[in-house]
Amino acid sequence: MKFTVAIVGRPNVGKSTLFNRLIGKRLAIVDDRPGVTRDRRYGAGRLGDLDFTVIDTAGLEDVHDDSLESRMRDQTEQAVNSAQVALLVIDARTGVTALDEHFARQLRKRRTPVILVANKSEGKAGQAGAMEAYGLGLGTPIAISAEHGEGMGDLYDAMQPFVDAWRSKSGTAGEMGDEAAALEAAAQPVTLDAELEALPNDEAEAPSHLQLAIVGRPNVGKSTLVNRLIGEDRLLTGPEAGITRDAIAIDWQWRDQTGQHHPVRLIDTAGLRRRSRVVEKLERLSGLDTERAIRFAHVVVLVLDSHDMLEKQDLTIARQVIEEGRALVIAANKWDVVEDKAEALKKLRERLDLSLPQVRGLPVVTISGLTGRNLDKLMDAVFAIYARWNRRVPTAQLNRWLGDVQQMHPAPLVAGRRVKIRYMTQIKTRPPTFALFAQMADELPDSYHRYLLNGIRDTFDLSGVPLRLYTRRGE
Ligand code: GDP
Ligand code: GDP
Repeated sequence: MKFTVAIVGRPNVGKSTLFNRLIGKRLAIVDDRPGVTRDRRYGAGRLGDLDFTVIDTAGLEDVHDDSLESRMRDQTEQAVNSAQVALLVIDARTGVTALDEHFARQLRKRRTPVILVANKSEGKAGQAGAMEAYGLGLGTPIAISAEHGEGMGDLYDAMQPFVDAWRSKSGTAGEMGDEAAALEAAAQPVTLDAELEALPNDEAEAPSHLQLAIVGRPNVGKSTLVNRLIGEDRLLTGPEAGITRDAIAIDWQWRDQTGQHHPVRLIDTAGLRRRSRVVEKLERLSGLDTERAIRFAHVVVLVLDSHDMLEKQDLTIARQVIEEGRALVIAANKWDVVEDKAEALKKLRERLDLSLPQVRGLPVVTISGLTGRNLDKLMDAVFAIYARWNRRVPTAQLNRWLGDVQQMHPAPLVAGRRVKIRYMTQIKTRPPTFALFAQMADELPDSYHRYLLNGIRDTFDLSGVPLRLYTRRGE
């Protein structure tokens, strides 16, 4: 058996053209009309010193009837199953479409490794689409032009480790150790950009629950708050539910003022377990700390004690949350015992702005876990920041804004030259993560970096959310 490569993707992205390029013959029909390539086609492919079988497919069309299209989809699934690697082709000129996203989701569920190929990238025209493709969560897109034969070296680099792994696997049959190592090596596709590649792909999980951690120093009132939140009048779906590998989770439903229920998964922390009636039983199961709870959470509520707010330890936890890229809500607890409430709140906000300038506009809710005051407001803030944390800013809007910004406040001169930012795109959500491309990207001063981030935060309603911005060299 030969190493087998399946070419998949929606119609008209250039699958057949790539197939032809790899087999070096004009065998497949190339046509502008979608769906012209009807059947799976096999060919003997070659790329540098790599020999393989290549399968051209008609695309995994998203149809659910018994029509020709659905048979085409089955064909494609079979092709992917019988391949050692799948090339998911997108049209970099068009950018990522809903159908591309659908394919990406389908392929992420399969065991077959995927190389993302951004076709029609000749002459840099496809740069925008290639960048957008990071968001598909399939690693670094390989920019190629099947028609003009550009980017074939990069495609070689991406494929080669898989071929190597497969070779050593079939060569050393029986030696499980080597096989495992080879497979593991193959699971790490070669990347042009290790940093972006290393970003976790949170979107892949698409969890239905908002994962919430309630953290804070001992005695600030965490257990009291949790018991209030999931108490009698709230629907508790059972503390046994949702015990994940490392964390204890309590699934419940938050009922908002309009009576709607929202599923919430409460991530347990050591402090929580100490006295909580509900959680008591789980005590033996895990020695979990705040840090781990933060890592599992989408939104983190940091509980402060109104007697001594924003102590060093409070700030340490807050910074940890921000560094992990989680959405943070500040709950100023025991507000029932605060005398000058207005003054105390003003002071708290000032101190937050001063101590945590990297996340302007953190939501602050004053609560009392004891009396139940403002818990609705707290949960509203939790869901609001969760939505912002999930927000995707359309590339067109982002670049329109970027154009205006550069006109009004261009980047400062560096050695007499101006750093011109070409393009910007959001490559990820949770937290919102952006990439910008500039000719002298490395020269962009930190101050301007911060200026852009604050601009994005204000313009696209992302206050209080940790943001990330990567700069990349690009013409
Ligand atoms: P398929 O439906 O995915 O198999 O796509 P085809 O291979 O039939 O190509 C669809 C159209 O895109 C054809 O008109 C091709 O000539 C064109 N095309 C394919 N590759 C490239 C490329 O690298 N650059 C450009 N500009 N067009 C391409
Ligand atoms: P934990 O260690 O963070 O879980 O804190 P606890 O929930 O055990 O609360 C510590 C102490 O603070 C207990 O004596 C609670 O009764 C008290 N406490 C908790 N919430 C409030 C509040 O909103 N107001 C007041 N006055 N006391 C509170």
